[in-house]
Amino acid sequence: MKKFICLIASALALSTQVGAQYKCGTDDVYNRLKAENPAIGEVELKLNMAIKEAIEERKAAAKLGKTTADGFDIPIVIHLVHDYGTEYISDDAIFEAVAFWNKVFSATNPDISEVVTRFKPDIGNANIRLHLATKDPSGNPTKGITRRQSYLTSRGSDNAKMDGWPNNQYINIWMINKFSADHSGAAAYAYYPSSGAMIPMYDGVIGLASYLNTDKTYPHELGHVLNLAHTWGSTNDPGVACGDDLVPDTPPTKGHTTCSAADLADVTCSSPDINNTQNIMEYAYCSRMFTKGQVDRMQAALTSSVAGRNNLYSAANLAATGALNDRPDLPVIPDFSVEKGVMSWGGQTSEKAVFLCQGSTTKFSFKNRSYNDTLSSVEWSFSNNPTTASSSEMLSNVTNSFKDAGWVKVTMTVKGNNTATQTLTRDAVYVASNTAYKGGYANYFNYGDFKEWPMFNHYNNGFKWEYSNTNGYPDGYGCIRFRGYDARTGADRYSGNPDGDFDDMYTPAFDLTTIGSDVNLNFFTAGAAGTKSAGNDSLQIFASSNCGDTWVRIAALKSSDLNNNSRQDAEFAPGNASNWKAQTINVPAAQRTDKTFFRFRYWAASNSNNLYFDNFKITPWTTEISEVSANANEIKLFPNPTSGNTKLCFTAGTSGDAAYVIRDVTGKVIATQNLKVTPNTFVQEEISRNLFPAGGVYLITLTQSEQTHTQKLVVE
Ligand SMILES: [Zn+2]
Repeated sequence: MKKFICLIASALALSTQVGAQYKCGTDDVYNRLKAENPAIGEVELKLNMAIKEAIEERKAAAKLGKTTADGFDIPIVIHLVHDYGTEYISDDAIFEAVAFWNKVFSATNPDISEVVTRFKPDIGNANIRLHLATKDPSGNPTKGITRRQSYLTSRGSDNAKMDGWPNNQYINIWMINKFSADHSGAAAYAYYPSSGAMIPMYDGVIGLASYLNTDKTYPHELGHVLNLAHTWGSTNDPGVACGDDLVPDTPPTKGHTTCSAADLADVTCSSPDINNTQNIMEYAYCSRMFTKGQVDRMQAALTSSVAGRNNLYSAANLAATGALNDRPDLPVIPDFSVEKGVMSWGGQTSEKAVFLCQGSTTKFSFKNRSYNDTLSSVEWSFSNNPTTASSSEMLSNVTNSFKDAGWVKVTMTVKGNNTATQTLTRDAVYVASNTAYKGGYANYFNYGDFKEWPMFNHYNNGFKWEYSNTNGYPDGYGCIRFRGYDARTGADRYSGNPDGDFDDMYTPAFDLTTIGSDVNLNFFTAGAAGTKSAGNDSLQIFASSNCGDTWVRIAALKSSDLNNNSRQDAEFAPGNASNWKAQTINVPAAQRTDKTFFRFRYWAASNSNNLYFDNFKITPWTTEISEVSANANEIKLFPNPTSGNTKLCFTAGTSGDAAYVIRDVTGKVIATQNLKVTPNTFVQEEISRNLFPAGGVYLITLTQSEQTHTQKLVVE
């Protein structure tokens, strides 16, 4: 909303984000949108003319002794977009806040007595009553609050405006934890009616849940929804230039970011009159009032059909939205999160589900997140034999391990003032087998062989790890894929943003102490970015040697490592082996324990596409060499291209005699080497860079008694 320097407010700011410059982002988004859609300017011009006429008519009516000030009842809905963080505010906190906003819109806020003498006669009563709807767009009973778990709460923007209700029936207010970088510094923003008419799905207010009761952030934003500008005009930059807001009784001003005695007595731009620094459309953080002129303007905006504002308070709409009805008595909606310490990557501690292994002593708890009614009881039960009994506590701590491997279904049964019992059952704990695979491992993910590879779709959405029974490497059988492809079409495809989503896939436990002198994760991937992708996808690989209690990141594959196929907007699927890329992740010595788990965490980006994953092995070799070692009829040069030495890898024949010849592209022999190798073993023969007179393409021919193979080598 505003820059943040008032006394009470700055104390809060210090405790959260030192030096933050909070402001309202309304004009930033408005100007961006207007540049993209010039028609908004025309709509706005018409609206302003209509408002001018409406204001004049109303004054004429007043002269005739008539009043139109019966007030406006307006249905609203609050959409809480959350990730079970501090933004997960209670229904009661919202009810109280709305009651306070109604005081502001009827000029009965207690601090209105602090308005300086000069402006007391100008205090305007907007006579607007906001009502949390009691019927949703389908006519179902509601308390006028929706809740949705989404990573977008941490990068709020228009993309986070999920579950919106029709803007000609409800004013939509979304609340989030944090804005995206494009709105950084904003506490909230709103759209003027002219913009709301152009993009109904984004019309309304979006703001930080933490600002629910900070100064008058939400009434300020609702002022914008009703076409009020900042008192210095339509910019987000107070203190820069004298400006006006098309409202006759708000004196011209530069706007303020502080609320000192000098600010309250400021005559800049309006001398000898003083500025209305306490106006709600200021940034001074001492908002107390709207003026009568602003009230005229808001009420006139409500009489306009632009963005359907004049339908909001119609009798038909008030009936359809149940705005004037008492809040209904509804059953509790059960919900819970799993709280597990502080995650090693420093992020959230609340998850839909947790991973641990048999016998783990990690402490975690199930946290009640139910809403929609006051709770009277919560009970928990578990599908697979936990060592603790179920608890009737609101916050149930599970202090010991689960014995049986596999997914644990957690059932929560709740009751509230409304006595209907509600039950939620969800896979909320994955208990990995404590038995580690010894001496190497391979999984080709054929025939659904992924049971010990649990996949966590943290946000329960379309972007997730999943099994694919086709498309695998190299022959089209099963594999695993991360679905980053957004199946929606048209404009929707580019609005719902996976950017910020992450999902996990875990391996079973491996004993890595007997693999060899080196330990590598070998696998193949096939990926492609969408044409509009920013290319910010990443696949991060973590290891845990303490049953999933803590994780150490051992690799991060970037978009450039993953997208080895050309960009495409259609859903990507590999057609043949050449679409795949070998990946090798070296396991650091510290993680080579007798029970190491790996976690593959995929961070999706906007407009990305699918990534396929197959042929996972643990070997002492790189992936290419590992592939050759598995095939007696292949040879491989690695690395290729090379700028140093390269390895010629092959399986020795029965005699143990072998030889290789290096030729240049003209066929001239550069070097010949006879080898004596152990029969029937895997051989890695080092070829020195010094054998090659210059960079270029060479042909290496390996001859054993049974066979001859030639491979091209590029020397850099
Ligand atoms: Zn503003």
